[in-house]
Amino acid sequence: MDRINIFARAKINTALDVVGKREDGYHDLRMIMQTVNLCDNITISKSKEKGIRLQSNLSWLPCDSRNLVYRAAQEMIDACGIKGGVDIELKKRIPAAAGLAGGSADCAATLIGMRSLYGINMPNEQLMKIGESLGADVPFCIMRGTALAEGKGEILTPLPPFPDTFVLLAKPPINVSTPVIFKEFSQAEVKERPDIEKMIAYIKQGDLKGICETMCNVLETVTVNKYPVISDIKRSMMEYGADGSMMSGSGPTVFGFYDSYEKGLEALKFIRSRYHIKEIHLTTVFNNKGKM
Ligand code: ATP
Repeated sequence: MDRINIFARAKINTALDVVGKREDGYHDLRMIMQTVNLCDNITISKSKEKGIRLQSNLSWLPCDSRNLVYRAAQEMIDACGIKGGVDIELKKRIPAAAGLAGGSADCAATLIGMRSLYGINMPNEQLMKIGESLGADVPFCIMRGTALAEGKGEILTPLPPFPDTFVLLAKPPINVSTPVIFKEFSQAEVKERPDIEKMIAYIKQGDLKGICETMCNVLETVTVNKYPVISDIKRSMMEYGADGSMMSGSGPTVFGFYDSYEKGLEALKFIRSRYHIKEIHLTTVFNNKGKM
C-alpha cells in the first residue's frame, strides 16, 4: 500500500465541568465526549523523498510544524524509524477553533493513518501516548465513540454507544480563544454544573430525553457573556424542535439534537440565514463499533 485515505471526525461535549486548577496551569476537567460524523479527509502518500509535504484547502492554515497533521506525521517518522517521507493532503470541513477538536481529530487520524500505511505494529495505548504529547483531546480522537474524559481530557473511560440522533452544528462567525475563556472562568460564579453520573446512567439506558435534560457546560456562561449570539442560536435550535441544545467545548459552536433529518434541515435553513452562518452542518453521532 502506497497511499491511505482517512476520516478525521469532530467531537462535541454533552457535559463539561471544570473541577479544579492544576499546578501546570491547566484545568482539571470532567467531560462527556461524543464523536460525530462531520469529518475532515486526509490522504497520506508514501514518498521516496525525505520530509513531509502538507497541503490543505484552507489558505490561512499553516502547513508546517504548526499544523498538528505535520507534527503527527513527524512523530511517527521519528518513533518508528520510517525512511523516506510523506505527501499529505488535508481537506478540512470541520470548522477550526470552534470547540469541535478539529485539529486534534486531524492529528489522531494522521497517527492512525501512518500506522496503517507503514504496517507498524503499535497498540492503541502507545499511539494514544504519542497523541497525548500533541494535545489533550488527541487520545479521545483516537478512541472515538462515547467516553468520559478526565484530567486535561486524556484520562478516558469508554461508555456505551450514544443513542442515534441527527446533530446540527452551527459555528457563528466569531473567533473564540480557548485560553481566554479558561482565564475568565471563575469557579465562584458557576451556578449550574453537569451531573455527570446521571448523564452516564442515561447513556447506559439509551435515554436521549434524559441526556438532553442533563446537558450542561460550565464554560457556556463565560462564552455567552462575551458573545450573546450563542444563546440566541441555542434558543432558535430549540424553537425548531431540537430535543436538546448546548455549546460545545469553549465554543462558539452550538449543537442541537433532532429526531428527524427534515426537522434538522428546517432548523439549519433558518439559523443559516438568520445568523449569517456559513459553517453549519447537519450530521449524526458516530459510534465506533467495528468501524474504521
Ligand atoms: P478544541 O475543541 O480542542 O478546543 P478547537 O476546535 O477549538 O479545538 P482546532 O480547530 O482544533 O480548535 O484548532 C485551533 C487552532 O489550532 C487553529 O487556530 C490552528 O491554527 C491550529 N491548528 C493546527 N493544526 C490544525 C489543523 N489540522 N486543523 C485546524 N487547526 C489546526
